[in-house]
Amino acid sequence: MNAFPTLPTVETAPKPEISVIAPIYNEVESLPLLVEAIAKILPTTQRTYELICVDDGSSDGSTELLTQLAQKTPHLKAVILRRNYGQTPAMAAGFQHAQGNIFITLDADLQNDPADIPLLLETIEQGYDLVSGWRKQRQDDAVTRLLPSKIANWIIGKVTGVQLHDYGCSLKAYRAEVVADMNLYGELHRFLPALAFIEGARITEIPVRHHARQYGKSKYGLGRTFRVLMDLLTVWFMKKFLTRPMHIFGSMGLLSLFLGFLLGIYLTILKFGFGQDIGGRPLLILVVVLLLTGIQLFCFGLLGELLMRTYHESQNRPIYRVRAIIHQ
Ligand code: UDP
Ligand code: MG
Repeated sequence: MNAFPTLPTVETAPKPEISVIAPIYNEVESLPLLVEAIAKILPTTQRTYELICVDDGSSDGSTELLTQLAQKTPHLKAVILRRNYGQTPAMAAGFQHAQGNIFITLDADLQNDPADIPLLLETIEQGYDLVSGWRKQRQDDAVTRLLPSKIANWIIGKVTGVQLHDYGCSLKAYRAEVVADMNLYGELHRFLPALAFIEGARITEIPVRHHARQYGKSKYGLGRTFRVLMDLLTVWFMKKFLTRPMHIFGSMGLLSLFLGFLLGIYLTILKFGFGQDIGGRPLLILVVVLLLTGIQLFCFGLLGELLMRTYHESQNRPIYRVRAIIHQ
């Protein structure tokens, strides 16, 4: 017999299977409709769920309304941020507080249709890690929104190697482990498919519905496209730099050295082969610049490589991801 009385165990609520995550910034009219729509559609999937609404520093009464709703609505969890941080940090906060195996993100303004959630779930369960929505008939302004995002999608696809029609669609489904330890900032939430792909995730996209905004107004203008593109450049650069800095700088350095040598040889032949005076030629300066730049870039690549090696070791982050481990 056990001589010690057993300690009372702490009752823990079972974890839901699905976490629906919506960032909220001044969406007071849409909020109750969103909560209602999710409460209606999720039970039809036969899975347990939670709805996580992240209030991103609203000032229109959304915060108070959300607090009230969360107190009386089952399955609803409110995460209230201290101020307005932006959609990406709000989503990251949602991921942090979500407990499901599958996360679904969508906009709170009901431009995404919660009725598409069952299809996203079915698709992800066919063996994907991330399913991205594609607003085939997008209900936004053609000139300020559709055209810039068409261009942005094309560039993102080219740079990342993951061709999606609609990176900007918030309605997506993710396996929790795919987003669990991503460091998000800026506008990076929209690059999640590309970031996940780098980590070895299986990705697909499906057409989803899209509605015009009913209440409130869009939080974005044309400026976002530029911020997105700048973030994209950073992502590309970081991806290259964090893995093999020597491959970028080393090759640029070698190219510069090579051109410098070629021009140097050309000038040497002119001087000694043809007896020309090369002392006053601007080309001579170019040779010197190319040679020096080449050496510097090469050394910069080497330094970067050393730096990154130390960085990776200090991060303690695996440099590979295991999809499954199978044993008897
Ligand atoms: N949003 C947010 N923080 C912000 C800006 C937007 O949480 O700083 C939320 C917003 O409430 C909405 C979603 O992000 O749920 C998408 O915003 P919006 O509908 O304005 O973007 P659009 O549909 O015009 O691209
Ligand atoms: Mg919207």
